Amino acid sequence: MVQFYLDAERLPAFVAHLMAQKTVIAPHAKGQKSFTFETVAEPDQVVLDYPRVMQSIRKFFLPPKEELLTFDLTENSYETTEVEPIDAIFLGVHSYDVAAVGRLDYNFSVGSPEKNYLTRRQGAVFVGVSFVPDSYHFSGSVNIRPEDPTGCDIFLTKLFEGYVLEVHTPTGEELIKGFDMPAHDAGRPATGHFQQHIYVPQTRLSEIMEQSYDNDVWAETAEQCVGCGTCNLVCPTCYCFNVDEAVDVTVTKGHRERHWDGCMLRKFSEVAGGEVFRESLAGRQRHRIFRKFKYISDTTGQPWCVGCGRCTAACPAHISIVGIVNRLISDHAQAVVAPI
Ligand code: SF4
Ligand code: SF4
Repeated sequence: MVQFYLDAERLPAFVAHLMAQKTVIAPHAKGQKSFTFETVAEPDQVVLDYPRVMQSIRKFFLPPKEELLTFDLTENSYETTEVEPIDAIFLGVHSYDVAAVGRLDYNFSVGSPEKNYLTRRQGAVFVGVSFVPDSYHFSGSVNIRPEDPTGCDIFLTKLFEGYVLEVHTPTGEELIKGFDMPAHDAGRPATGHFQQHIYVPQTRLSEIMEQSYDNDVWAETAEQCVGCGTCNLVCPTCYCFNVDEAVDVTVTKGHRERHWDGCMLRKFSEVAGGEVFRESLAGRQRHRIFRKFKYISDTTGQPWCVGCGRCTAACPAHISIVGIVNRLISDHAQAVVAPI
C-alpha cells in the first residue's frame, strides 16, 4: 500500500483532478450545521471535516422514490423503467457509511438479486475520509474504526493541516495518476476515541436479544416514542420499501413506484383488509432493534447497525439505540447473576 501526504490547501486541486475523470459526489455544507452529499460543481465547496451527513450515500443507490414501470391497460402491456449506473467517485465517505453500503449490497444480492440497486451500484468508487467521533458515534462497538479503509479505493486520514492519502486498489492507483504529492512513510494516526460504547460484542448480543423479548425497555421506550419513523429513514442500512400503483385521469395508463418505508411506521405493518400485525410501538421498537442486532446477524455474523448514531441524533424523543442495547445487556447480566 502506497502513502502520500495531501496538504489541505491542495484539496480543491485534488478534487478537480478527480472531476476530470468522473462525476464526483462529496459532502457539502447545508445551512448552519448540516452536511449533505451532492454532485461537486465547485471543488472548493467540498467539506471533508464533518460529523455526519443526515442522509448517507444510500440515497444514490436506493432513491427515496423511484418509478419501477409504466403500464397501459388498453394494450394490457407494461414497460420497465430503465436505470443507469451511478458511475461516480464518492469522495469523503466515513468508514461506517462505506460499511453500510456493504450491508445493502448483501441485502440486494443474496436471494433474489434486485436489478435497480445493483445497476446503480456499478462504477461506484470510494475515497474514504477519517472522522473524529462525536457524542453519537459508536461504530467502534461494531468493529468499524474512524480510520478503517475497508471497501475504499483511496483513504484519507486527517493529519495536521492535511491528510495521509493511502491507495488501496488498482482503481485508486489510476485515480491519482498525474497528481503530484509527496510520499509519506510515517504511518497514520488514530483519529479519536468513542464517547459511546455497546458493552458486549455482537457474538453475545444475539443470545441477549433472544432473552429480552419481554424486557420492560420496549414499553418504557414506547411511552416516549411518537412513531415518526425518522430513525428508519435516516438509517444507512435500512432498506425496506413500499410499492404503489397509480393510474392517470384516463384510467387507461399508469405507473408503479416504490418508496422508502420504515418498520416504526404504523402503516408499514398494515396488510390487506386493514389488519395491522405490529400495532404497538413497543413491538415496533423491538423489531427495529432486533433487525439491527439479531435477525440478519444470526445469518451473517455481522451487526446490521454500523454505529453512525443518526437514529439517536435525529430522534425527536431522544431515544438512544445504545441506551436500549446497553439496558438489555445490563438486565440480562442481572438476571444471570440473580435468576428468578
Ligand atoms: S425517531 Fe424516535 S420517536 Fe421517531 S419512531 Fe424512531 S424512536 Fe420513535
Ligand atoms: S440503527 Fe441507528 S446507529 Fe445503527 S446504523 Fe442505523 S441509524 Fe446508524
